[in-house]
Amino acid sequence: MLEGTPSDPCPCGRPPALCVCPPAPVVDNEVTVLVLQHPQEQDRVLGTAGLLSRVLADARVTVGLSWRNLGHALRLGTQQRAPDARQWAVLYLGATHLDAGGRRPERGSLVALDRVGAPLADQAAALAGIKGLVALDGNWAQAKALWWRNPWLTRLQRVVVVPDAPSLYGSLRREARPEALSTLEAVALALATLEHDPTVRDRILAPFRELIRRARAAGIRDSKRDRRSRR
Ligand SMILES: [Zn+2]
Repeated sequence: MLEGTPSDPCPCGRPPALCVCPPAPVVDNEVTVLVLQHPQEQDRVLGTAGLLSRVLADARVTVGLSWRNLGHALRLGTQQRAPDARQWAVLYLGATHLDAGGRRPERGSLVALDRVGAPLADQAAALAGIKGLVALDGNWAQAKALWWRNPWLTRLQRVVVVPDAPSLYGSLRREARPEALSTLEAVALALATLEHDPTVRDRILAPFRELIRRARAAGIRDSKRDRRSRR
C-alpha cells in the first residue's frame, strides 16, 4: 500500500487526490442506467463509469465483453423478472442522419433513431416509455466491439446524443472521434432529456468538471492505471 492511501479506497479506483465522488448520489434518476464497460477501460485513470455509478442513485457498471441478454448484463437473478427490452434504449455509436425533412438534429439533444440511423418522426413517443438506458464504455474500437458482441443490443431503442460542445476532456484524452463525449457526458445529456429535467445534466457534470480541473492542475493525462496502487 502507498503511504497515505486509505485502507478502504473509493470504488472509483482513483487515487484519493483525484477522487471526486460525492458522499451520496446527487441525482435520484428514474431511468436506470447500465454501463457495459470494456475490460480495458476499467483501468483508465480518468474513466467516468465508476464516477457515474456514484453520482446516480440507479446506475450499475458491468465489466465484460458479452452477455446473453439484457437481464444477464444487469446481473439479475433467475427469480427476478426479465426486463422488457422494449422499455430500454442504447446509446448508439453512429451519428444521426438528417431527419425526413432534411433538418439536422438540434445540438444538445437526444435523438431516437430507426434501424438505419434515421431520426424517428415521433421523437416524443419513441422516448416516452424508456425506463432504462445502456451505455457502452470504452474507446471507439472497444465500444464497437461491445456492440457487435451483444446482438441483443440491436433490439433496444437506439438513441444518440447530439453534442452541443466538445468533451470536457479536451486534450487530456485522445479520441478518434472529434466530437466524442465521455460516457458520463453522454449519459448526462441523455438523462436530462429522458427525465425532462435540464438540471440533471449539470448535477452529473459538476464532479466531472472538478476531476478535469484537478487532473489539469496535477498535469495528469488519461492513461492506464497502475493496478498495484489500487489497493
Ligand atoms: Zn471515488
